[in-house]
Amino acid sequence: MIKLKSPREIAIMREAGRIVAECHAALGKHVQPGITTLELDTLVEGWIREKGAIPSFKGYHGFPGSICVAVNDVICHGIPGQLKLKSGDVITIDIGAYYKGYHGDSAWTYTVGEVSPEVRALMETTLACLNAGIAQAVEGNRVGDIGHVIQTLAEGQGYGVVRQFTGHGVGQDLWESPAVPHYGKPGTGAQLRNGMVLAIEPMITLGTWRAKGDDDGWTARTVDGSICVQYEHSIAITAEGPVVLTQL
Ligand code: MG
Ligand code: MG
Repeated sequence: MIKLKSPREIAIMREAGRIVAECHAALGKHVQPGITTLELDTLVEGWIREKGAIPSFKGYHGFPGSICVAVNDVICHGIPGQLKLKSGDVITIDIGAYYKGYHGDSAWTYTVGEVSPEVRALMETTLACLNAGIAQAVEGNRVGDIGHVIQTLAEGQGYGVVRQFTGHGVGQDLWESPAVPHYGKPGTGAQLRNGMVLAIEPMITLGTWRAKGDDDGWTARTVDGSICVQYEHSIAITAEGPVVLTQL
């Protein structure tokens, strides 16, 4: 069942989203060579709790971290740990905050030192994919319209679009219906309505879309070892158009 949110609920979700956005804004300068992903996790958990919120991911289906980290060929759901970042890495940091009964969910890719032009171009296209997907989030469109524009843009550049993980509804639960694939056919899937809140989060790779899991039961990475980057916003579908809840 797709839960529609009232304007009052969307206003609260904007507060939850703001907390996530503030964490991302503060995080950038800490993503430097030599820092461990666990140190980043500790920082973000502290900021979320200072703001009176709870890290959405901590304990979610047993996930041990407050953030999800994805370095280089990792697609998503990496566990923060002793891995030290080094120049040339890219890291996606996914942050969720639970505040006044609602979740905000946003992931962003950061560069560590200098990265290759190839990776820069991948990041630019992936951000463009997110924005193109958001632009389709209007009443009367369908979930497939969002996936189609993302897939068309990414595959048009020769990139892979991860299929195993999708966007989703978000609200009182971190993961609500509908699933929002980042590929698809126009005019297919659930119809979008004002009051729906969706997390759109394309994961785009320099190679294959195929994913494999690590032995830790969480970390997903590309089968071919290619770099994967990701951008995610939580957005509300409203009569005034899509509203991004997880930006300042
Ligand atoms: Mg997320
Ligand atoms: Mg999400």
